[in-house]
Amino acid sequence: MGERIRLALVGIGKIARDQHLPAIAADAGFELAAAVSRNGRVEGVPNFTDIAALIESGLPVDAVSLCTPPVGRHRIAAQALAAGKHVMLEKPPGATLTEVHQLQVQARGAGRSLFATWHSRHGAGVAGAAAWLADKQIRRVDIVWHEDIRVWHPGQEWILAAGGLGVFDPGINMLSILTAILPGPLRLAGARLIFPTGRDAPIAASLEMIHDETAPVIADLDFHATGTPRWDIVIEADRGTLLLKDGGARLWIDGAEQVGDAIGEYPALYRRFAQLVAAGESDCDLRPMTLVADAFLLGERTETDPFAF
Ligand code: NAP
Repeated sequence: MGERIRLALVGIGKIARDQHLPAIAADAGFELAAAVSRNGRVEGVPNFTDIAALIESGLPVDAVSLCTPPVGRHRIAAQALAAGKHVMLEKPPGATLTEVHQLQVQARGAGRSLFATWHSRHGAGVAGAAAWLADKQIRRVDIVWHEDIRVWHPGQEWILAAGGLGVFDPGINMLSILTAILPGPLRLAGARLIFPTGRDAPIAASLEMIHDETAPVIADLDFHATGTPRWDIVIEADRGTLLLKDGGARLWIDGAEQVGDAIGEYPALYRRFAQLVAAGESDCDLRPMTLVADAFLLGERTETDPFAF
């Protein structure tokens, strides 16, 4: 491998265009070597419609970054690892926990890096929140995670299909932040999931969790909330109150806004991926996805009106 990681971007949709392509272009550690997508194209690089075609072409590529929906990601990642590529996964890292466990084993066996990304963990307020909470006793956590599916995921039918996660597609971002900033373990104790008639993924949910077996953690998730989105986490601790807003981007402690020095979520992800590849390591924290799986295992289900994009 040369100095720059030759990267293929797979699944040229909304997040690939909005975030991955600009972050890759701005990072001197990467060279965009190819794009893989059935319909999408990236100008200026070789384009392929399938990962197998990329591999068969013999084009020199060191790593792939997958931006496809979670269902089907395992097949692509497994083929890439088998061909000796390092693999970076958009969140959630797969459609099932087992398939991600298998990728971890495969990556270890192949001596390649596997990076399950959680972009929200790189929001400007998240590191400061974790540092402040590290020596606090948590009393209570209240979360509101409301956004409009039609604005943030226009026409993405896959997101309300089985394996698309529905409201947990944004909700898992919240869980990725919580599991990164709370000092103790988090356990799901109850859930209520609301499915639109005829859909296999929930459009709203409420979660009851417990932090360190002492503090209630209550989350209200709504994927059908019009108007200004709200991605807020309020944490009452023994020595103060923390407010994390805008999905981790802004932090207040006892009413005073704190200034973070983050470089941006996706630039931070690519910087971390380069570090992992250089160190020969993987980073695959499955706690956020395990909590989502627990909600599907334990949650009471109700139906609501049909949903159309
Ligand atoms: P998207 O706009 O639907 O793009 C996904 C792309 O994957 C599609 O354009 C499609 O390109 C390809 N694809 C391959 N198999 C597919 C299938 N069976 N169904 C649909 N598309 C398929 O989705 P996205 O919003 O970019 O989300 C992709 C991943 O990024 C998800 O895991 C999501 O959670 C994550 N993410 C999204 C956002 C966001 O704001 N949208 C933010 C952070 C993370 P071809 O048809 O050309 O193959």
